[in-house]
Amino acid sequence: MNYKQQLAVVEGLGIPPDTQVRMDCPFCQNKNTLTVDTTSNNLGWYCFHASCSARGKKQGEKTMDYVNVTFKKEDIKLNEEFKLPDSFKIVHSNDKALRYLHDNNCWEACMWARADIKYDVKQDRVVFLVKNPNTGKYAGAVGRGLTSKVYPKWYMYGNKDIPFKCGECKDAVIVEDCASACAVSNVLTGIALMGTSLKQSHKNYLEPYENLYVALDRDATKKSYDLASELTSSGFKNVKVKVLHEYDLKCYSTAEIEEMFYGKK
Ligand SMILES: [Zn+2]
Repeated sequence: MNYKQQLAVVEGLGIPPDTQVRMDCPFCQNKNTLTVDTTSNNLGWYCFHASCSARGKKQGEKTMDYVNVTFKKEDIKLNEEFKLPDSFKIVHSNDKALRYLHDNNCWEACMWARADIKYDVKQDRVVFLVKNPNTGKYAGAVGRGLTSKVYPKWYMYGNKDIPFKCGECKDAVIVEDCASACAVSNVLTGIALMGTSLKQSHKNYLEPYENLYVALDRDATKKSYDLASELTSSGFKNVKVKVLHEYDLKCYSTAEIEEMFYGKK
């Protein structure tokens, strides 16, 4: 089926606006493999079944209704508590999740409770919980798929404007993902952007640190420099770029991170 035919079928499902649903796929007939997303005035669909090629997106117009609804929602959402779904289980309940934490140098952060980490049995993800520093309550979560079949690789639950933070050190380092933020947290406060760009909202959640390092993944070194100058011009002091030799910070042990930032003891 081509895009137009698929679109007609998905539109025919009559899914209300601002909804994300998972359902049986009308294209391949598999159980619960199709997701449809009508948020932000768009219509997106994606089937997870390997044999099915149903996927597409229709961009909607940004009507005034949409603008009003979105902005009102943002206001309310800002301090809204994220209720942990029933599918979030203790991380010890899943071997793959534990192995992921060990392999990516997150285990200590989890053991010392510097990070709240769960296992989402529904989505097969290891889940890093994000707290709102202003309310002390959960604001959202970031989940990493544990097999290549889980799409997308990283998934954000709840509020997406607050960065994930791990540790309480005088120096901090901005990294791309939660696992890297956990890996550094024996030595520095780790702050994960979940990507390479700093949202305006992220800055509101950055406290002043004695030194604020930027260490995005190695293939984003140029972006690290851009981000550092953006932070400096926003008034942050002592912003420095750390160029990585390994791919990203979760590849390094605590001893290696200690040496990288503070030299040999
Ligand atoms: Zn399908």
